[in-house]
Amino acid sequence: MQKKTGVAVDRKQMIIDSEKIRSSEFLLIGEEADRLGLECYVIGGWVRDLLLHRSSNDIDVVVVGSGIELAEAVVKRLGRGAHLAVFKTYGTAQVKKGDLELEFVGARKESYRHESRNPIVEDGTLEEDQNRRDFTINALAICLNKDRYGDLLDPFGGIEDLEDCTIRTPLDPDITFSDDPLRMMRGIRFASQLGFYLSSETFDAICRNRERINIITKERIAEELNKIMLSRRPSVGWKLLDKTGLLQLIFPELAELKGVETKEGKGHKDVFLHTLQVVDNVAMETDNLWLRWAALLHDIGKPKSKQWEAGVGWTFRNHNYLGAKMISKIFKKMKLPQNEKMDYVIKMVDLHMRPINLIEDTVTDSAVRRLLFEAGDDIDDLMLLCNADITSKNEDKVRRYKQNYELVKQKMIELEERDRIRNFQPPVRGEEIMQLLGLEPCSLVGELKSAIKDAILDGVIPNEYDAAKEYLMQLAKERGLV
Ligand code: ATP
Ligand code: MG
Repeated sequence: MQKKTGVAVDRKQMIIDSEKIRSSEFLLIGEEADRLGLECYVIGGWVRDLLLHRSSNDIDVVVVGSGIELAEAVVKRLGRGAHLAVFKTYGTAQVKKGDLELEFVGARKESYRHESRNPIVEDGTLEEDQNRRDFTINALAICLNKDRYGDLLDPFGGIEDLEDCTIRTPLDPDITFSDDPLRMMRGIRFASQLGFYLSSETFDAICRNRERINIITKERIAEELNKIMLSRRPSVGWKLLDKTGLLQLIFPELAELKGVETKEGKGHKDVFLHTLQVVDNVAMETDNLWLRWAALLHDIGKPKSKQWEAGVGWTFRNHNYLGAKMISKIFKKMKLPQNEKMDYVIKMVDLHMRPINLIEDTVTDSAVRRLLFEAGDDIDDLMLLCNADITSKNEDKVRRYKQNYELVKQKMIELEERDRIRNFQPPVRGEEIMQLLGLEPCSLVGELKSAIKDAILDGVIPNEYDAAKEYLMQLAKERGLV
């Protein structure tokens, strides 16, 4: 007990000393609340992140009484450049000034019906408001009124859970998750984002309540999945989704990748575990969310293409192509974006074997140029994915692959410097071909254009106007066009 009190005192001192909480906005909110005779607290994610030394932009202020009334007073005091938006139906108000974003809400009590995650809301006390919060670490509140400025209210041992890196619900987890099943996703997301553990009661309750996820919209789920994907090691979140049984319900195609089949003593990689390793590898190198998604999906076509071939073993022929074809359906179903981001993921999945195949074959200039041409500006991302994909347990194999990978990369740099293939535009355009040869628009123009492209990619001619024109005229002569 002694130790816990000590920790709490240190925390209190840290909060009072914290420049963030002493900032003029918070003092001003407290002053206005005192003037109006309202109790008010900064609460939830912002307090958690303050104690974890993480940056956090959205500040939630809870008021025992009317949040809107306090927001109106605060916006007046903040003066020029401050804006107020009131949401009467929800009893909330938002104040913005520059980067500052404050959300004001009256303390409330919630009760739930079975079929919806949207509760019936009544005015309540601070304690009742803390009771409705999803996790102990998200229920922390700091008082802003002058006489108790900086007091930390931690009714559920949230500080201890922060110290122990634990995600735990304040009340009975079965009720917490059944009331609002999105909290199951949030819990796993926090575990992944903060590098925390789910307490065993929390974990078990997610397993028991997993089917309740069906009442949550796909958009909300996607939002949490993206946050998992953006965490330092996304595999933490995906593994928890799998272990709790949620994965099968929200993303069965990914769950399909699990497991190893053995025949005649030959097994294959567990594609699920391999995939998560690749995602973590990519995450170490880049924050690009969509490259991380491409890593997650790069082998999604493997179960469909898996075959046992006598004398060869397990094969996954064309899995990149089959996988790329599955993506638009998956994105649509999971309410992920149906735009150029999806096209990028499709392209990455489709091309992900190409650098590796180059590594395995003898690396010809022509093959490298073709890859540069097809990947265009995304070539660096593709190479990053390809490198992340090298995860064999056989160290010799990995070393050999990595060496060849460097070779291909070097060759790409040389060829790109010389031939500028990345943003390739044929040096002789369709219109000029028609003019030079006196042709009307027809398929022959396209054929000649692509013959020039092939000649450049194959290194027959350099990527230059004069050479391309000369090559065109020679082709035209051969075909009796001039
Ligand atoms: P982040 O902003 O990183 O997503 P957060 O914890 O701040 O994390 P918000 O959605 O901003 O999440 O919510 C602010 C606070 O509101 C939370 O800290 C939590 O106290 C409460 N909260 C949010 N969603 C829920 C929920 N579904 N059930 C219970 N409490 C919630
Ligand atoms: Mg927040």
